[in-house]
Amino acid sequence: PADPRLQGISDAIRVVPHFPKQGIMFNDITTLLLRPGVFKDAVDMFVERYRGMGIAAVAGIEARGFIFGPAIALAIGAKFIPLRKPKKLPGEVISETYVLEYGTDCLEMHVGAIEPRERVLIVDDLVATGGTLCAAINLMERAGADVVECACLIGLPKFKVFRLSTHESDILSKVSN
Ligand code: AMP
Repeated sequence: PADPRLQGISDAIRVVPHFPKQGIMFNDITTLLLRPGVFKDAVDMFVERYRGMGIAAVAGIEARGFIFGPAIALAIGAKFIPLRKPKKLPGEVISETYVLEYGTDCLEMHVGAIEPRERVLIVDDLVATGGTLCAAINLMERAGADVVECACLIGLPKFKVFRLSTHESDILSKVSN
């Protein structure tokens, strides 16, 4: 049976048609954040899944992975690593460029944020094509980390993403949809 918290989480996410451009159904998690009980349910479900798994680091993807990632990290006793858009981090970085529908984008991480063989959980709000999470996995694996899983609140149903890398990482923890 489905966890009863899932319906509340799903209901609290606002879907805005044609934002930021024509044809995009934008999933807006800010409405969920306004409801502390539901926000807590979402974080709790991730924490229940990931505590006790020897996860040393939670890596959040800018910007909405910065909302859920630190809450999960604190609760499971892991460090938090921001994966940022280019030219935001002041120290030496390792970067991973990835292809979008139009053009490219890039994620950066500070060198030394993760140690080889540390177990990391990657967090974002939503997976669509999986391109962003794939870039995050590649970045972490290039740094020698062991990617345990990718955690997202929302999996867009028109995309089916089962395996994002040659490594053992699968998207398993969609708590809505
Ligand atoms: P993708 O790389 O195609 O899996 O896209 C995922 C990234 O783009 C995440 O960081 C999402 O926050 C954002 N994103 C993509 N599509 C949407 C959408 N329909 N609503 C909200 N955010 C989206």
